[in-house]
Amino acid sequence: MFQKIICLFLLFLVSFSNLFAQKTTAPKLVIGIVVDQMRWDYLYRYQEKYTADGLNKLLSKGYVCQNTQIPYVPTYTAPGHTCIYTGSVPAITGIVGNNWYDKNLNKNVYCTDDNQVKSVGDSSVAGIMSPKKLLVTTITDELRLATNFKSKSIGIAIKDRGAILPAGHSANGAYWFSGATGKWITSTYYRNDLPSWVQAENTKVASDKMMQKTWQTIMEIEKYHESTEDKVSWEAPYRGETEPVFEHQLEAELMKSPDLLRALPYGNTMTLEMAEAAIKGEEMGTDAITDFLTVSLSSTDYIGHQFGTNSVEIEDTYLRLDKDLASFFSFLDASVGKGNYVLFLTADHGAAHNASFLQTHKIPSGNELSDSLSKKVYDFVEAEFGTKDLISSIINQQIYLNEKLLKGDAAKTNAIIQKLSQYIKTLDGVADVVDLKHVNDATLVQDYKTAITNTYNAQRSGNLYIVLQAGWMDDFTKGTTHGSFYKYDTHIPLIWYGAGVKPGKDYGQIYMTDIAATIAAMLHIQEPNACVGKPIQGLFTK
Ligand SMILES: [Zn+2]
Repeated sequence: MFQKIICLFLLFLVSFSNLFAQKTTAPKLVIGIVVDQMRWDYLYRYQEKYTADGLNKLLSKGYVCQNTQIPYVPTYTAPGHTCIYTGSVPAITGIVGNNWYDKNLNKNVYCTDDNQVKSVGDSSVAGIMSPKKLLVTTITDELRLATNFKSKSIGIAIKDRGAILPAGHSANGAYWFSGATGKWITSTYYRNDLPSWVQAENTKVASDKMMQKTWQTIMEIEKYHESTEDKVSWEAPYRGETEPVFEHQLEAELMKSPDLLRALPYGNTMTLEMAEAAIKGEEMGTDAITDFLTVSLSSTDYIGHQFGTNSVEIEDTYLRLDKDLASFFSFLDASVGKGNYVLFLTADHGAAHNASFLQTHKIPSGNELSDSLSKKVYDFVEAEFGTKDLISSIINQQIYLNEKLLKGDAAKTNAIIQKLSQYIKTLDGVADVVDLKHVNDATLVQDYKTAITNTYNAQRSGNLYIVLQAGWMDDFTKGTTHGSFYKYDTHIPLIWYGAGVKPGKDYGQIYMTDIAATIAAMLHIQEPNACVGKPIQGLFTK
């Protein structure tokens, strides 16, 4: 009897310790999908035409954050992708634009340029890239750290910055598209050769290219009720075309350069095919250690810039993307398995409506500002202070004064700032000018002050930020652009779907910075080191 009790007690101890030793289950694969320039309203504007298995599947079975906002300027691709994966803002991440003025090098630099590395996969300059200018960790870095580098992190996008910044410093790979050669490439930062699965995709793209002779609408063009007439004056034709209308004739231009592929719906198709190839080729999501695939769909941005937010081209692009996503989701179910993965879909920024389009409907707007504004600013400084050289650069709506020439002369610096601000405020389309070192002194709505403060990095930012009026665009008479703190640029889609996600809708205030914090909570890992976001409470099943 006594022996029996001892045995039972031991059995109890063993099972008790097992209970505690058991590790919390995490999804095998996390997939981040960023749709470049996807406005939040595209989810609903075309919803009736979406298939049941694409975006509608996410809307009905996912956790939909209806009010997700970007808390900084400029709302561009590189700061957006960086914020999503770091949970932090340009002031801290250092990614203050796609390009910015480098005060030491005395020139504008690009966010992922790195002349210490070489292109892998072709010999173009497109591969001279790395995440070196990013100053903080990403959620993908934190996952690698948490698993003692046993998890895999891979980034894929047509745009180099859309692949490199999300995948993190410690990524296993990042692959982007070289327009000159039509190949998926990487850099020596990651590895010295292309994996065979990437080489196979390159062969496929080369043969697919031959199929992209024309772009016709996926439905009869009369059914595109959500869009303007196809032929309007504010759209830009592709190179080699005389008018921006369907059926787009692409063959001649594609023969000259495969670069055009990035600005076609096919660009999204080939990106999602690369994503599938990465999952298979790298055996992602096959064991208990969570892997992370970051995918950015860049073609939506190129097409948006060219044709604008209300074009038949944009509607057709989203209908095709929806079908591509449906096929990607069914691939994930079949290969990784339902319940084994979690994904989120969001955007790096939205986009404004074209100013000419708005004006035809009497809505306040304007454009052609940037070039003429820069010229006016340089001319003013020359007339007032004797030389244009007092300004080093005007970029990201910021004016960089020439600190070397000013040699710390505070009185002169202040005089320039005062006179220049007064002058710029008199110009059409300008709402205000903010002294970036004294943002809190500005008389400005608090949200806008916060957005500007969140971009100020002492090393990489300028002296003055020019606030445009709502509806005014920076130098895009055709198509559209983005970059402001107005809602058309800052309101982004955010949907979570898969393992551990409770279906539902959230109308509360959520910020782009909350995405990385939420993934960290989901995976039970540390958030990125400069994360300022909070986990989204409502989406967790337990
Ligand atoms: Zn863009």
